[in-house]
Amino acid sequence: MKRRRSLISAAVACLAVLASSAWAQDLGPNVRKIKDGIYVQSAREVNSNSGIILTREGVVVIDTGQTVTDSREVAEVVKKLTPLPVRFVINTEVHPDHTTGNFVFSPPAVVINHAGASDAMQKADNPNRFNNPTLAPEMRAAAQGYRLVTPQIEYYEQTTLRLGERTFELLRLKNAHSEADTAVWLPNERVLFAASVAIPNSINNVRAFVTIPDILAATKMMKSLNPEVVIPGHGSFGTTKIFDDSERYYGLLVERVGAMVRGGKSLDQIKQELRMPEYAEWAYQERMPSNIEAADRAVK
Ligand SMILES: [Zn+2]
Repeated sequence: MKRRRSLISAAVACLAVLASSAWAQDLGPNVRKIKDGIYVQSAREVNSNSGIILTREGVVVIDTGQTVTDSREVAEVVKKLTPLPVRFVINTEVHPDHTTGNFVFSPPAVVINHAGASDAMQKADNPNRFNNPTLAPEMRAAAQGYRLVTPQIEYYEQTTLRLGERTFELLRLKNAHSEADTAVWLPNERVLFAASVAIPNSINNVRAFVTIPDILAATKMMKSLNPEVVIPGHGSFGTTKIFDDSERYYGLLVERVGAMVRGGKSLDQIKQELRMPEYAEWAYQERMPSNIEAADRAVK
């Protein structure tokens, strides 16, 4: 009897292993496991990352996918992982490739970002964005029911969300990428969702209100958290090397633009003549003029 019971329990254990490995494969090629209960969805390297974090009291989603088809995929992945609902969505910035899919989760989920997010999203909204005859049928299907959902909760500077066994610290990144940027720090797991301040191997779009000193302050603050895993707003997850690379890039850019300004060059001349061969392999070279303008503002 004893032997039979141990055989049965061995068989059950075996089935559990099979089930859990099948489970992992079922999440599909766009989902990476970061740590137990922490996943990231992204269909392509340049796409935005969507975080899925399980707790015993429900799910937190961080950004809602590059496109509405990604948002639907994130919702499906959540259903495969847990019967519990998505309780909160945290937006790490205001742009559509992180926020359009809010409508897929909210209601019932509550959306959170820093103050200023709702205003910026309302101003930039295009209610006809899915009324486009050239839109792929799967995109049209995924956009069913679309409406602009802006954060219902806006915090100032920093706030803490506690759900189940997990703690999420929401930290404002000021003037670092969009009108409202939030880093999400899980101190117990030492996992940091770092928003779009620094994108691996990629030149960022630096908008007129963004300053290089603010970008450097944001990466310095995030490094001081001493994260084990850094998940940028776009691109592969890694370590604080993502921030080191970004700091080195902006340092060199400011140095070279500064030398040219002191040499009497105009902004147009600098845009024509400046070379950053060390970063020739980085994506989005066409964003360089906005970077040179930001460096010019920083040195003047
Ligand atoms: Zn963005």
